[in-house]
Amino acid sequence: MGYVLRNDDRLVWHYEKKGCYTVRSGYWLACAIRDREDGEVGASNSNFENIWLRLWRMQVANKVKVFLWRCMHEILPCRQNLFFKRVVSNPICFQCHEAPETVLHALWDCPAAHEELRHFGYICWNVWNGRNTQLFQGWKPNAFQSYQHMQEMAEEFYQANCTSLRSIQDGSNLVVN
Ligand SMILES: [Zn+2]
Repeated sequence: MGYVLRNDDRLVWHYEKKGCYTVRSGYWLACAIRDREDGEVGASNSNFENIWLRLWRMQVANKVKVFLWRCMHEILPCRQNLFFKRVVSNPICFQCHEAPETVLHALWDCPAAHEELRHFGYICWNVWNGRNTQLFQGWKPNAFQSYQHMQEMAEEFYQANCTSLRSIQDGSNLVVN
């Protein structure tokens, strides 16, 4: 026999008191399942705290730390949260109109975020490249050198791939294949 949903029924997330999914509880559950499989029951909460402690010790502006803390606790004023608080009548992302605007959607899933996420790719590549430089050449690029290299890579990619697009946007006739 199937379930019959009435109008006032709603799906709830079992792992939060309010029944709403959060990245924090989702991460907690993922760690709990993993730890259970690894025989390390009870370690998941400390994993979450460890991640947060490492973020808090980062040498970045306090407003960035607070922002990250709010992200991890899913308390940014994204449309989904505003919807639950009855501030807005629609939780759907105002940029892509494809899904509810959760923190995860706004910062990762939304197509509108993909351009910024390219930088994340460059950062990861630079971290890995820095490790290899240290391993194979005996010196490690400092943060400024890594940042400069990242900018050069991004600019090089842009020049090679986006010139024709820019010429169209500028209204010029330059077309580079
Ligand atoms: Zn979106």
